[in-house]
Amino acid sequence: VSVREIIVMGATGSVGTQAVEVVLGNPELFSVTGLTAGSNLGLLAEQAVRLGACRIGLAQAPAGGEPEVRQALTEVAQRLGLPDRVEQIELGPEAGVRIAGTPADMVLNAVTGAVGLRSTLAALDAGTDVALANKESLIVGGPLVLEAAARTGARLIPVDSEHSAIAQALRAGRAEEVDRLVITASGGPFRGMRRAELDAVTPAQALAHPTWTMGSVITTNSATLVNKGLEVIEAQLLFGVDYDRIDVVVHPQSQIHSMVQFVDGSTIAQVSPPDMKLPIAYALGTHGAGEPRRISGATRPNDWTRATEWTFEPVDHEAFPALGLAYEAGRRGGTHPSVYNAANEVLVDAFHDGRITFPQIADGIAAALATHHSDASGRALDLDSVLSADAAARERTSSWIERAAP
Ligand code: NDP
Ligand code: MG
Repeated sequence: VSVREIIVMGATGSVGTQAVEVVLGNPELFSVTGLTAGSNLGLLAEQAVRLGACRIGLAQAPAGGEPEVRQALTEVAQRLGLPDRVEQIELGPEAGVRIAGTPADMVLNAVTGAVGLRSTLAALDAGTDVALANKESLIVGGPLVLEAAARTGARLIPVDSEHSAIAQALRAGRAEEVDRLVITASGGPFRGMRRAELDAVTPAQALAHPTWTMGSVITTNSATLVNKGLEVIEAQLLFGVDYDRIDVVVHPQSQIHSMVQFVDGSTIAQVSPPDMKLPIAYALGTHGAGEPRRISGATRPNDWTRATEWTFEPVDHEAFPALGLAYEAGRRGGTHPSVYNAANEVLVDAFHDGRITFPQIADGIAAALATHHSDASGRALDLDSVLSADAAARERTSSWIERAAP
C-alpha cells in the first residue's frame, strides 16, 4: 500500500492537531503535503517541519510577511535538526483555497466556520477526496458541495463523530433497509437546566464541556444544541435521509456516537470513548470505493471490566430551542441553513464577549430566520447567493445584537 498524501486545513486547532498526531503515528500509511491555519505561525511552522510538508498557508499574514514565515521555518528546522521542505507559502484570505486545490489524495478540512466552504469546494473541484470536520461547509453550501463531489467523483467523508458513527453503522444493512438515523447529543454543560436559569450562565461555564475538549465555537454550540442542529442538517445532506427520519437523543456519557435503526427494528450503534482520534483515523483510512481501513490503536477501547451506566433522555426543546430552529431551517432549505449558521457565528462571538446572554443566541437565530426572505423562485443555489445570504444575515444579526444587548 502506498503512503497517502494528506493536506490538513486548520492544522493548529483541536481537530487539526489530533489529525497531525494520527499522521505522525502512522508514517507507513500517511504523509502530509500541505498545512494551513488562521494566524498561529509558530505552531504551523513546527508542524510543517516535523511532517516535512511542502506547502503551507496562513489566512492572516504575519506583520513581517513571507520573510517572517521563512525565518520561523528556519528556526524550527534548526531547533529540531530536521530539513525545512516548504516550497510554497500562501498568505491572506485566499491561502486556504489555493492550498486546498493542490494535488493530494485527501484534504482534511478542520477549519472553523463558514469560511471553510470555499476550501472544501476547491478540493472537490480538483477531484480530491475531502474528510470533512468543517460541517459549516455543508450547512452553508450543501447542494453546491454535493454537486461538486458528484461532478468530479471526489468523496465527502465525515469526520464529525456522529456522522462517522452513522457511516460505520450503515455498513450493517442495505440503503433501502434504513428506517431512521438516531444522533446522540451529550446535552452539554447546561443539561437539565430550565430556560429561566440559563439567563445567568457565563461564557466560562459554556466553555467547560463535560465530555469533549474542542475549539471554543463548537463548545458553545454544544451548550446551545446549535451543534446538534448543524449535525442534523449535515446528516440529511450526507446520507440523504429526510428530516422526519432523523432523531436526536441525549446521551450524557458520549459513548454511543450515533445509531442507525433498520426496518426490522434492529438498531446498530457505534461505541467508543469520546476521542476524535477514532473518527479522524477512520476518515483518513477511507479511500476509494472499498471498505475503509481501520487504523490499529486509533483510540483506547471501552473498558468492560468496570461497572458503567449509560443513560438516555429526550431533548428539552423549551430550554434549547436552537435544535428545533435547525430542523426548520433545514426543511426550508435553500439559503436558510446558511442564515442559521451565519447568525449563530455572530451571536456566539457576542456571547463570548459578554454582549448578550446565553438564551439570546437562540433568540437571535430565530430573528435572523424570521427576517430572511429568500427568493424561492426555484433558482438553483449558487455560491454568490449563498455568500450574500450569509453576509446579509451577519449584518442583520449585528444590528439585532445592538438592539437586544442586556
Ligand atoms: P479550533 O478553533 O480548535 O481550530 C480551528 C482551526 O481553523 C485552527 O487551526 C485555526 O487556526 C484555523 N482557522 C481559523 N480561522 C481560519 C481562516 N480564516 N482560514 C483558515 N484557517 C482558519 O476548532 P476545532 O478543531 O474544534 O473545530 C474545527 C471544525 O471541526 C469545526 O467546524 C467544528 O465544528 C468541527 N468539529 C470539531 C470537533 C472537535 O472535537 N473539536 C468535533 C467535531 C467537529 P489558528 O489556530 O491559527 O487560529
Ligand atoms: Mg459532532
